[in-house]
Amino acid sequence: MPGRVEGKVVIVTGAARGQGASEARLLAAEGATVVVTDVLAEGEGVAAEVGGTWVHHDVASASSWAALVEAVVTGHGRIDGLVNNAGIYKVGRLLDTTEDDYRRIVDVNQVGVFLGMQAVAAAMVPNQAGSIVNISSVAGIRGINGALAYGASKFAVTGMTKSAALELGRFGIRANSVHPGVIDTPMITDLAGDGPGAEERANKMVRHAPIRRLAHADEVGNVVVFLLSDESSFCTGAEFVVDGGLSI
Ligand code: NAD
Repeated sequence: MPGRVEGKVVIVTGAARGQGASEARLLAAEGATVVVTDVLAEGEGVAAEVGGTWVHHDVASASSWAALVEAVVTGHGRIDGLVNNAGIYKVGRLLDTTEDDYRRIVDVNQVGVFLGMQAVAAAMVPNQAGSIVNISSVAGIRGINGALAYGASKFAVTGMTKSAALELGRFGIRANSVHPGVIDTPMITDLAGDGPGAEERANKMVRHAPIRRLAHADEVGNVVVFLLSDESSFCTGAEFVVDGGLSI
């Protein structure tokens, strides 16, 4: 039986670890050719593991996107899917966030998604088909206390996904956002810190959620596979919340 994304060429950014690596594995298992990109060299190992292609790539750089798109179109002939997954998180309240920190977070999380959609959609238009999945956050649909810049960048992702969906529908290209809650990846384990109490600190983040645990990265990845597959052919401009009920 063919896989759910059989034969599709899909770029996953920030795929050296965490959710991006999980998405790369799940997509490859369902028949996709995966282009693994990241600023971390560990992405090369993930690409080898999934039989995909590795490209060192900084999402915040327009020239890096241009080189990536050119390499993928030259190497694989087309691009069917893009997962704008790369992201950074930093704690910081309104009264203590530096301008440099604000701009850096927006550069990666927001400008990175803009540059990615722009570069990849241009390559999808001639095929009149494509699916773009932007990883936002629950912090992109409701306020987050203590990470102002992160919340701003993720709301921007939610909004620009809808604008892109409106614009790209006539070219057969869909764009959706995914909103993870608290997922067990290095982003969260770094936040919870090491040593005694780390697990309690991580669990405290989900104490008000109906499903009171951290998610495995695959629980987000499965939704991403659905959105890249033709099973989601009538979904565009939508918010897919994967948070164990944290935001309800
Ligand atoms: P992670 O920190 O494990 O992985 C993020 C990856 O992005 C890393 O491999 C990192 O090197 C890469 N990256 C960072 N800056 C980059 C850049 N400029 N160019 C290319 N790659 C870059 O975190 P994760 O949990 O796997 O995060 C994946 C996405 O999910 C992010 O957008 C994050 O904001 C979002 N998210 C995470 C959680 C969570 O609880 N972990 C919750 C909501 C949303």
